[in-house]
Amino acid sequence: MSDTIHLLPDHIANQIAAGEVIQRPASAVKELMENAVDAGATQIRLIVNDAGKALIQVIDNGKGMSVGDAQNAFARHATSKISTIEDLFQIRTMGFRGEALASIAAVAQVSLKTKRAEDELGTLVEIENSKVIECNSVAHENGTSISMKNLFFNVPARRNFLKSNSAELKHIIEEFTRVALSFPEILFTLSSNGQDVYHWEGGSFKQRAIQVLGNQYQTKLVAVGEQTDYLTVSGFVGKPETARKTRSDQYFFVNRRFIKSAYLHHAVANAFEGLLPKDSYPSYILYIDVDPSQIDINVHPTKQEIKFEDDKIIYAFVQAAVKHALAQFSIAPSLDFSLDADIQQLDAIQKPFTADKIQSATSHSLYAGFTQKNQAHLIPKSEKAGNSDLENFFTNIPSSHSQSNEMGEMQVSPDSYIVKSSSMGLYKEEEGLSVIEDTVLLQLHQTYIIAPTQSGCIILHQQLAHERVLYEKYQKASIQPHATQKSLFPVVLELNPSDAILLDEMLEDLAIIGYEIESFGNNSFIIQGIPADILSGNEKNAIELLLEQFKHFSGEVKYSKREKLIRCMSRQMAIKAGQSLTQKEMHSIIEMLSQCDIPNVTASGAPTYVEFKEGYLDGLFSR
Ligand code: ADP
Ligand code: MG
Repeated sequence: MSDTIHLLPDHIANQIAAGEVIQRPASAVKELMENAVDAGATQIRLIVNDAGKALIQVIDNGKGMSVGDAQNAFARHATSKISTIEDLFQIRTMGFRGEALASIAAVAQVSLKTKRAEDELGTLVEIENSKVIECNSVAHENGTSISMKNLFFNVPARRNFLKSNSAELKHIIEEFTRVALSFPEILFTLSSNGQDVYHWEGGSFKQRAIQVLGNQYQTKLVAVGEQTDYLTVSGFVGKPETARKTRSDQYFFVNRRFIKSAYLHHAVANAFEGLLPKDSYPSYILYIDVDPSQIDINVHPTKQEIKFEDDKIIYAFVQAAVKHALAQFSIAPSLDFSLDADIQQLDAIQKPFTADKIQSATSHSLYAGFTQKNQAHLIPKSEKAGNSDLENFFTNIPSSHSQSNEMGEMQVSPDSYIVKSSSMGLYKEEEGLSVIEDTVLLQLHQTYIIAPTQSGCIILHQQLAHERVLYEKYQKASIQPHATQKSLFPVVLELNPSDAILLDEMLEDLAIIGYEIESFGNNSFIIQGIPADILSGNEKNAIELLLEQFKHFSGEVKYSKREKLIRCMSRQMAIKAGQSLTQKEMHSIIEMLSQCDIPNVTASGAPTYVEFKEGYLDGLFSR
């Protein structure tokens, strides 16, 4: 009996292998553009005809190839990018497998022109069915131009498998965009059937994001930026109002490589929770940078999926970074600060909440409406002593009508607002915060501080608590102006005309809280000094953020400019949820909060802490 196993001829083996890498014109576009990036090009031009079915050409001004390299480039596993197995875990280039050109050469008629700067003449190589059919010297500018014609001309089954031109062009634009977003410093152009489609000059990440998403995103992107030794997350998320019904404009890049990751998408979606209507998706362009040894790119034929050494950390970090970014821009979208007229008439609302007022208020018919669950902080403890209702042991819990969204901002319905306005100054706890001194505090999820009190324990929200502290501090600054630290290197701020007018109007109030900013005409300002307790270095960003937040307060809200400013400032400057704190820092927050006039709520009415009484805890255990 003769053997039945035989080796496939090269050209068939290559075609089979090509199927993995080159599935459609867009896959070839990706590979060729990535090669141009790897070659250090600063300009990359893509030309397609018939959605890439007739022609795909990529022209770059990168480092080019020698004659020998130009011929070898099309062999399978021909690569200049790795040479040892260790290199596989230190990859900083887009390609590394040496498969792309070999695959392309197996399924299209390829022509390569290339020249290195140090060479007088360039090289022309023509390939068909994986074979070099011509190799000559030619005149060529520095860089490389590869064109591939008639994709799948020799694999009719695959060619028939291609979709309509418009569908294939859409895929091409998708790949083009992904590469362009990864490398904003590079100029990219795309023309299709002789028509210019895109011309994106090189620039910043933000500029590229705007080129891709459209000018209307100019004011709709929130910058994300978190850095640790282990990884960096940067980029942009669209403000909630830009959310779409479809999942478009969602991009993750890991070490500048576009990847698909449902897992990380979930992290972002989670950070947006409560901010978006149901079934709508946030847009984002996020760049994750990690040490290449922490990822494995070699798990997917088109390298669009990668494996992280520790994906839980990445998840948590991405989520926290996005939350943090959103929190900095947070302004309650629809806080209704005006109360119903008849509710305003209520004595309890108009006058301070003294013991006898409490008495009269509790007898009012409306009171019944808001003494439901979780609103017991309105009820004086003395009167309710001995009552076993669970809620009476809470001293400060959001009303059941209120929901704190991601930013800790309260969405309030009018009746729950009554409760809150009561806690906002009309009624003040006699006991205040009585955390046991010098005790060890516990930080939970880098957001909550758990502290024992004389009569139980409190759970305090670090961000909201600090917001309260800063709010009162800035408020008092109008009596005693806040200290300023002079900037060593004054920062110049250039604004658009409408922001300039706004900032101009705010200068006086900003001065009170420690900002020394001068206008010098032409929409330009110079930041001479910043509040003494703010870290210098990011003044410009801080002011821009402030303006952005300030604009969110609509004109209907009856706050003075100063009040708005103070609210924005305290929110912006507060330490954020997700930040880990030392014992000292936690103690200092509690200390500062306990010195506040109204420690238990933020200016916008979110609770800053919740207290659990011993009796309640005992009750939980049937004691
Ligand atoms: P890989 O990118 O994985 O190395 P490719 O098959 O895409 O494999 O390319 C093979 C080799 O050809 C590359 O390693 C590189 O040396 C060279 N090459 C390909 N495209 C270009 C280009 N546009 N400019 C310069 N060299 C290139
Ligand atoms: Mg490549």
